[in-house]
Amino acid sequence: MALLVPQFLNARTGVNYTPSASAFTVETNEDAQQVKLRIYNVGLGGKPVKTVNMKRDKADPTLWQASVKGDLNGKFYTFDVKYGGKFRGECPGIWATAVGVNGKRGAIVDLRGTDPQGWNADRRPSIPASDLIIYEMHHRDFSIDASSGLVNKGKFLALTEPRAIAHLKALGVNAVHILPSFDYASVDETRLGEPQYNWGYDPVNYNVPEGGYSTDPYKPEVRINEFKQMVQALHRAGIKVILDVVYNHTWNIDGSNFQLTRPDYFYRKNADGTYSNGSGCGNETASEREAMRRYMVESVKYWVDEYHIDGFRFDLMGVHDIATMNAIRQALPSDIFIYGEGWSAGSCAIPGEQLAMKAHISQMPGIAAFSDCMRDALRGPWDSDSKAAFLGGVKGNEESLKFGIVGAIQHPGVDYSKVNYSKEPYATEPTQMIAYVSCHDDMCLVDRLKASVKGITTDEIIRLDLLAQTAVLTSQGVPFILSGEEMLRDKKGVHNSYESPDSINHLDWDNLERYPQVMDYYQGLIAMRKAHPAFHMASAQMVRERLDFLPDQNCLVAFHINGRGVPGEQWGDIYVALNANKRARTIEVPEGTYTVVCRNIKCDPSGLTTVSGGRITVPAQSALIIHN
Ligand code: CA
Repeated sequence: MALLVPQFLNARTGVNYTPSASAFTVETNEDAQQVKLRIYNVGLGGKPVKTVNMKRDKADPTLWQASVKGDLNGKFYTFDVKYGGKFRGECPGIWATAVGVNGKRGAIVDLRGTDPQGWNADRRPSIPASDLIIYEMHHRDFSIDASSGLVNKGKFLALTEPRAIAHLKALGVNAVHILPSFDYASVDETRLGEPQYNWGYDPVNYNVPEGGYSTDPYKPEVRINEFKQMVQALHRAGIKVILDVVYNHTWNIDGSNFQLTRPDYFYRKNADGTYSNGSGCGNETASEREAMRRYMVESVKYWVDEYHIDGFRFDLMGVHDIATMNAIRQALPSDIFIYGEGWSAGSCAIPGEQLAMKAHISQMPGIAAFSDCMRDALRGPWDSDSKAAFLGGVKGNEESLKFGIVGAIQHPGVDYSKVNYSKEPYATEPTQMIAYVSCHDDMCLVDRLKASVKGITTDEIIRLDLLAQTAVLTSQGVPFILSGEEMLRDKKGVHNSYESPDSINHLDWDNLERYPQVMDYYQGLIAMRKAHPAFHMASAQMVRERLDFLPDQNCLVAFHINGRGVPGEQWGDIYVALNANKRARTIEVPEGTYTVVCRNIKCDPSGLTTVSGGRITVPAQSALIIHN
């Protein structure tokens, strides 16, 4: 059937608004008995100024409509649907594009009035997927500490400030992945003066920016305008904005906008009638159902059209079905980058072969998945913080790391039987794999190294941190860095810091001066990757032809890239060696003179020194990169 798009979404105002009248539409299940529309002057409290009984559409019993005369700009509204003789409670519906404080009521806002100056000229930066370098950040972590020097602490606007932009530009990342920034439940927007922290994986209104990150959550237009200012500032700096989206579950079932308007339609159930919990959060949405699939498709399209979003990271993508992810891919422009967690947090109530899991990525062209294989090969397994792997000098992780280096594609140099999780390649193209060693989940890199490597010194932490990111940034997958790793951040050993206070989660910008060698190295590494297409060849066939591995050694992975014939590549033979051993090792390369660009925790793409071929030393716990 043709996708049915509620007219108010097309109007982009939460309702179909005109100065003389506003038309409201809500979808229900067929057994809905009555729908009341209430209009308010305020977003919270007060009494309705008007209550209207909505009319059921004659052709479609799931659609209810009402038209209210007069200029409603600045007013708020709720829907209240009756089933089985009982009204379920007021809510803004599922398509609200503006809301009052805490997202309790929809708001009628002229969205064109929320556009910052010059918004019409704003364009998504043109950067192919293979060239992306993603920086994953939480608004509050990034800016809340006094050391940030930022004015708009914990707000969208922090990312418009020159110091923030200058830092991202200096680091060299070209995409910022912002943790949930849609309206979520766990921060009370009426108490923003008090310290509150949450990552925000508890969605309420999917198509509205979070009020807690705005300077005034009571005024619906403010969060929309400030979000756009953020996007505009990043785009002007040539940086893409990727939104972390969480369609796989809602904050709760009973109070969710889904459940209040269409009870039990949007959630999967087990055979025994209980709610399935593949999200680990008490519920799991049913992307395979027509209205849920349509909702996800229209929602991401809306963020692209209205907010100029450049990409999406799907939380627990493995809860969604493959057909829905492919529908999303097809509905979005090809330059929109899509990736997700190719797993779920529990079993889902649809057949496993339909789920958008990592192992099914080859069925989802143009969609990428995080490589837990590479991550855990470096830092250690996800189920035990105290277990080390490659970085901690534990042998046996080499093939898993090689799997990450080639971007999870089929490659003759990888023995898949020895890869930790994926016993076969899952990516058709290397841009379908996200290369990373840490993200907001679990311990950050410093904490993990401290927890898993006995007696580790600060010097060793730095060496291994830089070694880990060298693997990430020389992977043919798409590199991804957790915000603050360049500042040698720690979270005081907290594993799941989703609601930890600022004292745990904040970035300490003074670390840039304490450990300048870390930022220096990251900058050099990122600059090298950007300048050299050999490190991001984009084509699986080219990776198979141009990249080969040197002989295996314990806790050392070394590879060669023949840069000749790689379009745009200036370097010829490139050798990369990643040595996690506590002692120096050697590799054998052909005779000749090579320029050293990375050695012993220094990285400078213009060259550090030269070295002659033959047997070459790779210093302990560090990377070596040379080229001719
Ligand atoms: Ca909120």
